[in-house]
Amino acid sequence: MKAVTWQGRRHVAVTDEPDPRLEEPTDAIVRITSTAICGSDLHLYELFGPFLDRGDILGHESMGIVEAVGRDVVTLRPGDRVVVPFNIACGRCFMCRRGLQSQCETTQNDQYGTGASLFGYTKLYGQVPGGQAELLRVPLADENTIPVGTDLPDERYLFLSDILPTAWQAVEYTGLDEPSTLVVLGLGPVGQLAARIGVQRGHRVIGIDPVPERRAMAVRHGVEAWEGDDDVSRVIAHTQGRGADAVIDAVGLEAHGSPFAHAAHAVTAALPDALARPVMENTGVDRLAALHASVDMVRRGGTISISGVYVGDSDVMPMKTMFDKQLTLRMGQCNVKRWIDDLRPYAEADDDPLGLDDLVTHRAGLAEAPDLYEKFQKKDDGCIKVVLQPT
Ligand code: NAD
Ligand code: ZN
Ligand code: ZN
Repeated sequence: MKAVTWQGRRHVAVTDEPDPRLEEPTDAIVRITSTAICGSDLHLYELFGPFLDRGDILGHESMGIVEAVGRDVVTLRPGDRVVVPFNIACGRCFMCRRGLQSQCETTQNDQYGTGASLFGYTKLYGQVPGGQAELLRVPLADENTIPVGTDLPDERYLFLSDILPTAWQAVEYTGLDEPSTLVVLGLGPVGQLAARIGVQRGHRVIGIDPVPERRAMAVRHGVEAWEGDDDVSRVIAHTQGRGADAVIDAVGLEAHGSPFAHAAHAVTAALPDALARPVMENTGVDRLAALHASVDMVRRGGTISISGVYVGDSDVMPMKTMFDKQLTLRMGQCNVKRWIDDLRPYAEADDDPLGLDDLVTHRAGLAEAPDLYEKFQKKDDGCIKVVLQPT
């Protein structure tokens, strides 16, 4: 089969790989019809070189048609249409029973102390081949698939695999229970959806992003979109001097244009893993720009909800300010399965309340993946969300 594989920093290729096969009686094989590129893939593309192996198959936002099932799979049959959540969870352990599928104890990867295994996220998260490919092996397939109907196009369902529940969790974790002022930092795909969910819930949503096309898209969905200059003082000025009730950080590690990221990569690429990790984690604080801005623009007693990915173990945070303002911080990888029942009605509604039909800017076959990774990373050509269609 054809698959998108990591070949080096800022270098992916479409290569011939062996077809996956059923390895466990609980596996399924899915023929992929749509698979998106996520902002998290850009971290692999640009930054995480020291942790990757050449040839790793990328991709964790996928859906398709079940091709084969192992003998212990009970809920699926060949021909079923399914979305594949990005975290691989057992559904039964202590964590899964509490809706913390991202912390599943059965599929956890102890080597790096990360959470549940993920599709296409290399040895950092369990070395499970990803879905930017013609075929995908889905472990524990009864739990790790979301069956969907056949009436609506892929793009109404595809984002249930990751960014839609991620955005939903980001808004849930703000804890806002009455119409409030919500700032969303970063209007990439995650920020776009979080902002729209905020608008749906009656909040005044201010979205901040330097990229004009992303601001224009947000405005189409009822968001006030700002460029980011003087954003802290502007938020304060627009909230009776208090600051926003909650801030969602949908930025996280931002590699493109950051001299720090490139320098850190140059250093870490030359080191073995054991040395590379602490170097990568402990150099510079520039990468925390959005998080530090969140602390400054949230009001006293407010909440910061972090969906952007951070990796430092000893990053500098303004503890005095955070303590003094009595802030709440919530964060983490999305627990995809936890939010599907809440989100399915939005995905399937005739009037498309979250505007899922207005998110994808680029669609192409797998062969275009190298070009589209680069466009998405550079935010060129109005690129906001890329969907690859292998089949
Ligand atoms: P993206 O890279 O397209 O979006 C990031 C956006 O932030 C860009 O539009 C960029 O212009 C903007 N930005 C950069 N610096 C900024 C700043 N200082 N202030 C305001 N905006 C700024 O990616 P995405 O797909 O939207 O993902 C966003 C983040 O969410 C990434 O870190 C990704 O890894 C993470 N993510 C987390 C989960 C999860 O489970 N928690 C799931 C999916 C994605
Ligand atoms: Zn993702
Ligand atoms: Zn579990």
